[in-house]
Amino acid sequence: MNIKTIDINKFKRIVFFTGAGMSAESGVPTYRGEGGVWHEYNWREYACQEAWETDPEKVFDFHDLRREEALKCFPHKGHEVITAIQEVHANVLVVTQNIDGMHQRAGSNNVIELHGSIWRVRCDREGWVKDDLNHGPFEKRKCDCGACLRPDIIWFSDMLDPNTVQQADAAVSQCDLFISIGTSGVVWPAAGYPQLAKSTGALCIELNPQPSEQSLIYDRVYKGKAGELLPQLFNM
Ligand code: NAD
Repeated sequence: MNIKTIDINKFKRIVFFTGAGMSAESGVPTYRGEGGVWHEYNWREYACQEAWETDPEKVFDFHDLRREEALKCFPHKGHEVITAIQEVHANVLVVTQNIDGMHQRAGSNNVIELHGSIWRVRCDREGWVKDDLNHGPFEKRKCDCGACLRPDIIWFSDMLDPNTVQQADAAVSQCDLFISIGTSGVVWPAAGYPQLAKSTGALCIELNPQPSEQSLIYDRVYKGKAGELLPQLFNM
């Protein structure tokens, strides 16, 4: 494929917008696609507030499994390219829909996690959120106050955290280079970001083996895998 390489020094603010396809290449299953998690598990029993209120242990068991599966996978060359760009450019943000922490494991530090993280828990009674980086299952399922902890993840029907959304909105609307990787563009409000970036004048590029719902919005669409296209795009 003929890829026109990007000189990062020509851009002031760069946003990498990533979805499940970015991690799929590391081996983390997507939710809906081929081999997707929701073919095996019904999200109504594992990934919504109602499921957690009905049977928190079952929901925790499911998310323990997600953590264990994620730990068997490793960042790929595409993650490394993003981290390398962050190391040499002052204004590079990752806005991800992924909850698996793979960007951070690749060494990225400026990561906005729109849909939360399987590496955090929160106590809704006391109102705190904390890292739980135990290398395996969640360390604790109960808060000292007696309430059941909750994986800090946006489940079906949950509202996104307003502060996180505000940060992501600001980053996307102010960037001059927006690169979308591995997202089908069907999960809202994240699916609105390509249009937002485009409307504020950013150069918008999509990397995906398949067309997405938003492909027509982009200035350039490159068909292929993140781990192969990112090194080519940035000549790394
Ligand atoms: P999606 O599953 O709807 O779409 C995945 C996209 O990735 C598809 O368009 C597919 O063509 C593309 N893709 C597959 N392999 C790729 C590769 N090697 N390189 C580049 N692209 C590739 O994903 P979504 O748009 O992120 O929406 C799904 C939702 O599920 C999100 O809300 C996300 O939070 C959540 N999710 C997260 C994880 C994770 O944390 N790893 C995994 C599954 C789902």
